[in-house]
Amino acid sequence: MNVYEIVLKELGEACKILDIDPGVYELLREPMRVFTCSIPVRMDDGSVKVFTGYRCQHNDALGPTKGGLRFHPEVDLDETKALAAWMTFKCALVGIPYGGGKGGVKVNPKELSRREIERLSRNFIRALAPIVGPDKDIPAPDVYTNPQVMAWMMDEFSQLKGVNVPGLVTGKPIILGGSAGREEATARGCVIVIREAAKTINLKLDNATAVVQGYGNAGSAAARLLSELGVKVIAANDSGGGVYNQNGFDPVALKKHKDATGSVKGFENCSDISNEELLELECDILVPAALGNVITSKNADRIKTRIIGEAANGPTTPQADEILDKKGVLVLPDILANAGGVTVSYFEWVQNLMHYYWTVEEVNQKLEDYMVKAFKNVYKTYQETEADMRIAAYMVAIKRLDEAMRIRGWV
Ligand code: NAD
Repeated sequence: MNVYEIVLKELGEACKILDIDPGVYELLREPMRVFTCSIPVRMDDGSVKVFTGYRCQHNDALGPTKGGLRFHPEVDLDETKALAAWMTFKCALVGIPYGGGKGGVKVNPKELSRREIERLSRNFIRALAPIVGPDKDIPAPDVYTNPQVMAWMMDEFSQLKGVNVPGLVTGKPIILGGSAGREEATARGCVIVIREAAKTINLKLDNATAVVQGYGNAGSAAARLLSELGVKVIAANDSGGGVYNQNGFDPVALKKHKDATGSVKGFENCSDISNEELLELECDILVPAALGNVITSKNADRIKTRIIGEAANGPTTPQADEILDKKGVLVLPDILANAGGVTVSYFEWVQNLMHYYWTVEEVNQKLEDYMVKAFKNVYKTYQETEADMRIAAYMVAIKRLDEAMRIRGWV
């Protein structure tokens, strides 16, 4: 199954349980709008290369569409459509006034110089200018794009319009209107829902054990925040390899080691561990924070954890979900567990629109309120129906979308 087929399967299951109007189901199956563009970029050697860019606006019943822009060689339309649909469900689930969008450029940014990436970013946002804006569609960083790329895009769009438009994109540097707390928001949101989930299964976090797959932005911050709650982080990895110590290690020291050496590998007092072994370690909490499709029908049976907090998008396949559900593993699905990122992006946009900025304490408190409420809504649906946690999360989201589309008169 490709990622879009997975979205359709999950959507279909949730709509069936909810007995949703066929019109609503049809509207959610296909994006509202897709945009493809050719982006010419002057390379440093004087030649011109043309890249293909996409933006998909899946559904805007609840508000302007919102979602990242990625620069990656494997960007294609199906993946973009799937990720845009997930954004629709994620925003509806946490109750922020956005629809879902996603986009990207098919490019390997590692082959481009900084100036070439700047020209690509500026030319891409010029191509997108007719369809994006603070009241229409608000992009953000994603794979291989970052606050600097957002700054170039915001600057280019502002020059084009002749006014400063900080609310065009989120994930900006703080000096240009970025929000305090945005950098670790995904991890913080994920740890909040793990904490709430632990209460429901009487798991005491003090001395519980955790394994983190992918020690990047989300994974390393999740490890640190879990350890602040008393959890022992016993293993972590990245694309260069993995480290393991049954007695636990200091996640902050591991982050420093990775920053200094480029990988978690070789960290003090730890033994090496392969990616396969790491996912199958006995632990209380497993946090996949790297790529999609890592927990599948091939390894789900050997996963020995009590809670999976999906910081990554799409780490668990539908077949694996079934196996994990039977084993009694509580899966906190991506559209819930990594929604902290878009929630603080929403706070950034709100602050941009009112030109007034909150402290990190205020941002974190608001994030706490949204995430706890979202978890409670999903868990209640999970308890009241036959659905697993993922389908329960879809159900919470689809109910809101259904209501909005009906009141608008679309169905
Ligand atoms: P990142 O690039 O900072 O980190 C990804 C990490 O995964 C890196 O350390 C990389 O080395 C590691 N990795 C790559 N391949 C691996 C492999 N085969 N095995 C183990 N580790 C591997 O990215 P991030 O921002 O932390 O995002 C991680 C995941 O979380 C992605 O799926 C992303 O879509 C999702 N996510 C992130 C955010 C956010 O705000 N950062 C929001 C929502 C979802």
